Amino acid sequence: MMMVKMSCKFNFSAGPAILPKKVLLKAQTELLNWQNSGMSVMEMSHRGKEYAPIIENAELNLRKLLNLPNNYKVLFLQGGAVTQNFMVPMNLLNSKTASYVISGYWSKRTFNDAQPFSGINLAASSESINYTKAPIVKKWDYKKDDSYIHFCLNETIHGVEYFDDPNIKNIPIVCDMSSTILSRSINVSSYGVIYAGAQKNIGPAGLTILIVRDDLLDFADKKTPSTFNWKTQSENNSMINTPSSFGIYMAGLVFDWILDSGGLQAMEKSNIKKANYLYDFIDSTDFYINNIDNQNRSRMNVSFTIHDNELIADFLTGAEKNGLFGLKGHRLVGGLRASIYNAMPYDGVVALVDYMKEFKDKY
Ligand code: PMP
Repeated sequence: MMMVKMSCKFNFSAGPAILPKKVLLKAQTELLNWQNSGMSVMEMSHRGKEYAPIIENAELNLRKLLNLPNNYKVLFLQGGAVTQNFMVPMNLLNSKTASYVISGYWSKRTFNDAQPFSGINLAASSESINYTKAPIVKKWDYKKDDSYIHFCLNETIHGVEYFDDPNIKNIPIVCDMSSTILSRSINVSSYGVIYAGAQKNIGPAGLTILIVRDDLLDFADKKTPSTFNWKTQSENNSMINTPSSFGIYMAGLVFDWILDSGGLQAMEKSNIKKANYLYDFIDSTDFYINNIDNQNRSRMNVSFTIHDNELIADFLTGAEKNGLFGLKGHRLVGGLRASIYNAMPYDGVVALVDYMKEFKDKY
């Protein structure tokens, strides 16, 4: 007998993640023949006249969305967000010290990956409380002559998010925004460097966006290879080698979609509505549990468990039967997680909560 495979109605994966349907459809229409060029974007020379407006518009629209001041450069890099774990110290440490805040798995990994460099210090960690609350900025223990402070705005696995931009003068803040960038407005001037893997709110995997204040481009270690050197990349318009050309095109389509949908204010409004709906339901029962402090509950990644761990497998099987995919918690922490990025419609969260109610009533 032929097995009928369930198909996905709503994709709650943490990344690669759901993309706006409109964007996928537009890419589909243009796939074989981009704007009468006779070529797919995938086939174009990244230095050709056809490709130039694609990367230029992507940058322009990202600048518009984030309200980027002129003294910030945008780089389209590869290697994923974790490659920045060594690119940041190579480009910025400058034989000084740096302080790292640990608020979950990703920022701990960033701190660990930086250990081969000397002068890497811990500013704060919430590991002892299982990352249920992010260390507050006022308690970060950094040095006044640090070359930078690193933290992660939203911890994708633990579901812990900072909602205020840190107000620290004189020390550049380096921020991993992989899973929250473009979900709301931020004050870019609070940061020296912002980076994000694309595969959540930006586009397909394989592209990493880095935004850097231009006065921070002069500190790279002399041994930094050209592809890893922010200044070299900046001087070469992110084309010191072949960039992720199709990824940048897709990111550009996503930026257009966000602008057409009302920009970051509209994203924020919709993301608050979706997250509140889900957290309110979780809080209304003893069946589902989320232990994250109210102030730090991630709007993008809602991690939760069921009071009886044994039920997780059944929950996931039933969810897939209902077309709800990607709800398994990260392999390191288990449990469940619903990633509700910009492209997740409100209806998706309603469908999830309906299923959660049904499952609860059954057990
Ligand atoms: N930082 C955060 C906050 C993430 O969510 C992820 C990916 N889930 C990473 C870093 C690593 O990203 P990449 O796989 O692109 O290296």
